[in-house]
Amino acid sequence: AMEFGINDALKKLGIQDINLGTSTGSNNFGSGEAIASYSPVDGALIGKVKSTTKTDYEQAMVTATQAFKPWRKMPAPQRGEVVRQFGNKLRELKEPLGKLVSYEMGKSYQEGLGEVQEMIDICDFAVGLSRQLHGLTMHSERPGHRMYEQYHPLGVVGIISAFNFPVAVWAWNTALAWVCGDVCIWKPSEKTPLCGIACQHIAASVLKANGLPEGISCLINGDYKVGEMMTQDPRIPLISATGSIRMGKIVAQAVAARLGKSLLELGGNNAIIVTPDADIKMTVIGAVFGAVGTAGQRCTSTRRLIIHESMYETVKEALVKAYSQLRIGNPLDEKNHVGPLIDTDAVANYQSALTKVVEEGGKLIVEGGVLEGAGYESGCYVKPAIAEANNDFEIVQHETFAPVLYLLKYSGDVNNAIEIQNGVVQGLSSAIMTNNLREAENFLSCAGSDCGIANVNIGTSGAEIGGAFGGEKETGGGRESGSDAWKVYMRRQTNTINYTTELPLAQGIKFDL
Ligand code: NAD
Repeated sequence: AMEFGINDALKKLGIQDINLGTSTGSNNFGSGEAIASYSPVDGALIGKVKSTTKTDYEQAMVTATQAFKPWRKMPAPQRGEVVRQFGNKLRELKEPLGKLVSYEMGKSYQEGLGEVQEMIDICDFAVGLSRQLHGLTMHSERPGHRMYEQYHPLGVVGIISAFNFPVAVWAWNTALAWVCGDVCIWKPSEKTPLCGIACQHIAASVLKANGLPEGISCLINGDYKVGEMMTQDPRIPLISATGSIRMGKIVAQAVAARLGKSLLELGGNNAIIVTPDADIKMTVIGAVFGAVGTAGQRCTSTRRLIIHESMYETVKEALVKAYSQLRIGNPLDEKNHVGPLIDTDAVANYQSALTKVVEEGGKLIVEGGVLEGAGYESGCYVKPAIAEANNDFEIVQHETFAPVLYLLKYSGDVNNAIEIQNGVVQGLSSAIMTNNLREAENFLSCAGSDCGIANVNIGTSGAEIGGAFGGEKETGGGRESGSDAWKVYMRRQTNTINYTTELPLAQGIKFDL
């Protein structure tokens, strides 16, 4: 770790005394058992973070609720100014934060920097948004009446995030929630607690510099039990939860039981359709990056390739060749393409997927396996694998969060491929590689891809901030980031104003006194 400047990065992020068992302050509410964070890169203990107890949680809630009162009254463009400063702070700390993301989560340093760039981009987006947040005006049916709608802040937003985007998902939610006038309580993944601490320090420093209550951003730490404190709490009108479908089903029910709102960003089972008109070179780059980038641990990672039979052998050969050139190792070393999985449980899931696909009748054409020896001491490094399979295999229907790519064959026209693509419970990201206008437009039509994201001639992973991000079906239906995703962080109010001396009723109803 030393040679990649990890200690220096931690220092710049205000995470000192990393082995002493505490890292609190800055509205981080934790006095419970310590959660140890081990790096999947080299297996080293990076630090410990204290988990949030019931009492700590109550304190966080009170602090957040109090902070909401002045914050909601501050004009939105002024809140935007705070977000602008937050974005600048992230620019300053991009390298150390990107490095911590890489070291604690295991993605490549370039992807770590990319994740921080996403945080910066959403801040820029939110700053512009802070001068908009507009509702509509309507024409009233009654004379001398005006009707319009406005959006008001919602209150405390609870954020639950996954390990694989340990900082960006928080920023997507926070930057928008802040300009909307909400305050946030964040529970990061228990697998990446130090990323949470680092981000909280950044937020707290910006709030402090502006003389604002630090309760505008609160951090709580721990596993699902701490998450449940929020999902069951009627004082939290919106829960934004990112993670597995399994988690989403539990969270959605808990929040619905108290009639709260939830924004769900859950698992994907993303496919690229490769038609007879595909550009092979672009297909291979898109598919390989999509399948092995972040070691297959993106919600938008490419899991399935649906290849036309006429192209099948060509694509297969090109992929096997490309996989033979992949370098697996320390993600902080820019020579490597593929880093580790998050932990050894993830390695076990990867291994069981490879066993399962063979049991179900599939065939491994790039075998995979766990790496051992020098540089792989953490036990988290695996070789990306490719299997020929059928879409109806149970394992293919399931999202394995690892670099396992399934090759599926289709014949006939593009609609057959679309049927296979849609034939899973998830609905996050999808892509088609084609130069044929009819195929592309069919794929994008109402009878085409059923996913929240549908791309032409690019892969499934790597979304831009400007668009709404999220998916349908068991992916949960939520949308974050760009477009009008901000609306979920606000409450809509319809207002009718009578500026006459009469009181006419709607629908022409007469009520004479
Ligand atoms: P996970 O579901 O194990 O955990 C996610 C978060 O939910 C963690 O913070 C966890 O502590 C919390 N949690 C779990 N059970 C809970 C409960 N009952 N109540 C409250 N909180 C609970 O997921 P993970 O392994 O960290 O992340 C990988 C998954 O996340 C994949 O399925 C991936 O596709 C998905 N993901 C989706 C998106 C998206 O935008 N759609 C983005 C990133 C990751």
